[in-house]
Amino acid sequence: SEEVLRRTEKLAVAGRLAASIAHEINNPLAAITNCLYLVQQSQMDEMGRSYLEMAQKELDRVAQITVQTLRFHRQSSRPVHTEPGELVETVVALFESRIRRQSVTISKRFRSTQPLFAYEGEVRQVIVNLLGNAIDAMPSGGRLVIRTAEANDQVTGTKGLILTISDTGSGMDQETIDHLFEPFFSTKGVTGTGLGLWVSKEIVDRHHGRIQVRSRKAREGQGGGTTFRIFLPLGGVPASASGAEAIDSLDRSD
Ligand code: ADP
Repeated sequence: SEEVLRRTEKLAVAGRLAASIAHEINNPLAAITNCLYLVQQSQMDEMGRSYLEMAQKELDRVAQITVQTLRFHRQSSRPVHTEPGELVETVVALFESRIRRQSVTISKRFRSTQPLFAYEGEVRQVIVNLLGNAIDAMPSGGRLVIRTAEANDQVTGTKGLILTISDTGSGMDQETIDHLFEPFFSTKGVTGTGLGLWVSKEIVDRHHGRIQVRSRKAREGQGGGTTFRIFLPLGGVPASASGAEAIDSLDRSD
């Protein structure tokens, strides 16, 4: 529809703007990092050193944001057929050492489905974000459950992939749930960018899918946990669904 098209175009423009800003920021960022390094090599009292450390931490945070923005923008622009279970396995492998270190137990159940036709790099990014968050929420152990299955959308009847990722971690209060998908919303202080779920939702939207969350905040004597559930149409995405494609066409019309 026209509304979807307008949103896609807006997203493309916003994405391109964000990417060029991120790119511009990268050079001065590198210069500042070098300066700080040189200052660190010189004589300094304890207070100076602690300010320097603070500046460095904040700088890392900015760098993380630009890297994440650029990476999102450069995702490959062709949808491909991919086997959902295999895709999930490649992401789980990335987190293996953290999973072991935090004594998280993991159980997987991949029901075989028709292959997914999607922007693979983008879908992988969504899984990375959700798994990363789940593991972040279980610093001292817990259980991670990952499932894939095939189901028909209750509203449209479209055949789709259901991916659920559950953790027995900290859970979230209502305030957090309400702001979850907003850019830069994070409860993780300097270690979070608050972009993970925002980007994930944009990607799922572009695939005409849905992302849902259920969560219970852990309290004394009562465990918490969070479940993210993603629905992605298996049959494929129209070429125009990708922001990357929309950016290409904008470039051509320049
Ligand atoms: P970030 O992880 O950088 O903070 P996200 O957009 O990925 O950014 O997540 C936003 C916030 O949502 C997190 O800071 C956290 O408070 C909350 N959150 C997301 N996933 C979970 C989860 N599985 N368990 C608990 N809280 C979560």
